Order: sequence, then structure tokens, then C-alpha cells
Amino acid sequence: MHAEQQASLDAVLETVHGVIRRFDRSYLIGCQKEQRFPQELWAALADSGLMGLGVDEVDGGMGGGLGEAAAMVQVLARHGLGLLHLPLTLFSRHVLVRHGSSEQRRRYLTPTVTGDKKFCLGVTEPNAGTNTFKIQTTARKGEDGQYRVNGQKIFISGADEADYMTLITKTPGAPHAAFDPKASLSVLIVDMKSKGISMQPLQIQVTEPERQFIVFFEDVAVSADCLIGEEGMGARYMFDTLNPERLLLGAMAIGIGHFVLAKAIAYAKIRAPFDEPIGSYQAVQHPLARAWAHLEAANAMLLQACQRYDAGEEAGALANTTKLLASEAAVEAVNAAIQCHGGYGFDRDYDVITFWPLARLLEVAPVNNQMILNFLSEKVLGLPRSYGRRTKPGQ
Ligand SMILES: Cc1cc2nc3c(=O)[nH]c(=O)nc-3n(C[C@H](O)[C@H](O)[C@H](O)COP(=O)(O)OP(=O)(O)OC[C@H]3O[C@@H](n4cnc5c(N)ncnc54)[C@H](O)[C@@H]3O)c2cc1C
Repeated sequence: MHAEQQASLDAVLETVHGVIRRFDRSYLIGCQKEQRFPQELWAALADSGLMGLGVDEVDGGMGGGLGEAAAMVQVLARHGLGLLHLPLTLFSRHVLVRHGSSEQRRRYLTPTVTGDKKFCLGVTEPNAGTNTFKIQTTARKGEDGQYRVNGQKIFISGADEADYMTLITKTPGAPHAAFDPKASLSVLIVDMKSKGISMQPLQIQVTEPERQFIVFFEDVAVSADCLIGEEGMGARYMFDTLNPERLLLGAMAIGIGHFVLAKAIAYAKIRAPFDEPIGSYQAVQHPLARAWAHLEAANAMLLQACQRYDAGEEAGALANTTKLLASEAAVEAVNAAIQCHGGYGFDRDYDVITFWPLARLLEVAPVNNQMILNFLSEKVLGLPRSYGRRTKPGQ
């Protein structure tokens, strides 16, 4: 890493630690119990300028790249302050950073830097699942020039808190939409208070302050100037956000892995059913040491991937590998921490089992690890694509 990049990273980390000194794990647990958004933490991140990471100064941001943003997400998670809405907002707005007009950036991006507005991401649909090209939500242009959006999105994190959604939708009016499903996708910024939007909460067992929703769109009017870039280019814009998404959530996975590991190590030093600390037994040490090694390997991959991404180089293989290794290492760390805590590992008050759903989730979302392995098999190993050869289940 160049001295300049290191200095920028150090400055970000110092600011993050300034925020961490004011909030601890019990604060976030309190928010989870009350099912309320951690607004004070969010405001502190914004007030210290951290919400401006990755956004140019001309748009009110503090500059910096994905490396600094990933470091912030990871360090917060390492201190028990892993907040799903943070990476979510960072990568949901990324499409604006990359492809938004100056007016769109002024209207939608800058208010996220000040912490006034939040974003959610609307990609997944009940029938399409992992296959985004099969989505059915549609935006058709009416005679008044506005889009009318109809359809539904599922598993949308923080939809209730978000002011805007980065919506991936079909636009049948796009130039080549009739011939190529990829060319029918577009990205719209949708005001979540628009008439015709309703939502239904899902009972998702992840202990985070954010909740997930099915979001319904019924003839929602969206102004044409909410279209990002060109109609039909949504697939390309979406792919641009995939690497940041994988890297930021990889960073969060590494952070929560280290957080639970630290708890397990502390517990192993004092728990002594046979009068010597369980941490003196190899059988207890090795799973913890192995989890630490895997978290650090994932972190080394994360750093390399972020450097490559920030240098404008192709980072797909490294970003996917980071997400795979980080999510697996987080699961391994939480599993080792549960075992180390014995029965107490299952007591919510010990705050170890609470991380299991989140760690497991990161193996499934934002993209499942099988799709990551598919990507590596096809794009890195040069093997034939293993999926998408049939069009209908059972065929
Ligand atoms: C808590 C939570 C938060 C989420 N937040 C958001 C959000 O904010 N915005 C959003 O748009 N989405 C969100 N999602 C959705 C998430 O990204 C999807 O659940 C995920 O992409 C998988 O889609 P699916 O559930 O339909 O699984 P499916 O597509 O039905 O796949 C099921 C399983 O089949 C396997 N599989 C599928 N396809 C293949 C393949 N080609 N090769 C090999 N194996 C395969 C995988 O193991 C996969 O887990 C969230 C989900 C959860 C649970």
C-alpha cells in the first residue's frame, strides 16, 4: 500500500475509533430489543464525515475508496457495531456515485452523506430469486412521460427506514428489450413514500436492528429523471455494484467473526470446570486458532481486492473470493465460539448465538456462495457454465 493510501486509511480508522468510543455493543442490543433504528450511531457516523466515504468532495463526500469504506465497516463490526444498513446504503448509492447525473447526485447522494437520507436495494423477487434476469417488476412509461412501476420485491432490508430504493426493474420500452432480457433492465431511484408502495414485514431470524420486507408496487408513478443513466443498461450498472457489495459484506463478516472470537477467547481464559481454564486445552484452542487464521486469510484477500478495485482494475475474482472466504470464516468463528461457551453459547444474554443467523445469512446473501463458486469455476477456471441451461423447473 502506498504511503498516501495508508495515511488516508489511518485517518479513517482514527475517526471510526472516535465513534466507537461513544457506542458499545449494549447500545446496539438495546436498539435490537426495541426494534428501532440506531439513529444516534448513524448520526455520529454522518457527523464525523464517515458517511461521505467513497463520495467525491464535489458531492459533499470525503473521497476515499472502497478500502477505507470496508475498513470502517469491519472495525465497527469488530466492536459489536455491525450495522447491515451501513454497507447497504454504501453499495445501494454506489450506482449514483458511478452513473448518476450531477443533479441526481445532488438530490439523492449528498443527503446520504449528511445522514439525512437512507437507501435500500430492491433486487430480489419471489419467483426470480438468484436469477435477476427473471424479475417481473416492470416500469412502463405513460403518456405523461412518467414511469408506472408494478410488481414486488422480497427480503428488502431496511425498507421501512429507507427514504429511497435503488430499484432494479424491467423497462419494456428499452431499445433491445424485446430480444434480450438483460437489455430490458433499468435502475430507478424510487421515493419510498410514493403513492402505491406498501410493505409487509417478514419474520426473519437475524438479530439486527434492520428488518426485511416484501415491498409491493402498484402503479407507482416515478419521474423519468429518476432513471439512472440509460434505459436497458441496468444490468451493467448492477454489475458495477456487485464487487462493492461483496467486499463490504465480506468486511462485515470478518468483523463479526473477530468479535465473537474475542468473546470466546476471553471466556476460555476464565471458564474452568476442571479447575484449569478450558482455554488451556488444545481441543478448545485449535478451533479458535483455526478460525482466526481463516478470518485473517479472508482479510488479506479483502485488502488485495479493495486495492485492485480502487486502482480501477478488474476485481471480480478477488471480490468473489473475499465474500466466499469471509462468510465461511465468520460461520467457523461463530461455531467455534458457541462450542467454547458450551451451554451458555445458546443463551441469548451471552450474545454468541445471536451472531449465528447473521453469519449464516452472509453465506446466502447478497448472493449465495454457490453462485460465487459458479463464477470462479466459469470465469477463473474456464469451466463450462453449470446452470441456466433449462428454462423451466422439471424440464
Ligand atoms: C436477511 C436477508 C436480507 C436480504 N436483503 C436483501 C435486500 O436488501 N435486497 C435484495 O434485493 N435482496 C435481499 N435479500 C435476498 C437475498 O439476496 C436472496 O435471498 C439471495 O440472493 C438468494 O435468493 P433466493 O432466496 O431466492 O434463493 P434461490 O435463488 O431460490 O436459491 C436457493 C438456493 O439454491 C442454490 N442455488 C440457486 N441458484 C444456484 C445455482 N445457479 N447454482 C448452484 N446453486 C444455486 C443456493 O444454495 C441458494 O441458496 C436478503 C435476504 C435475506 C434472507
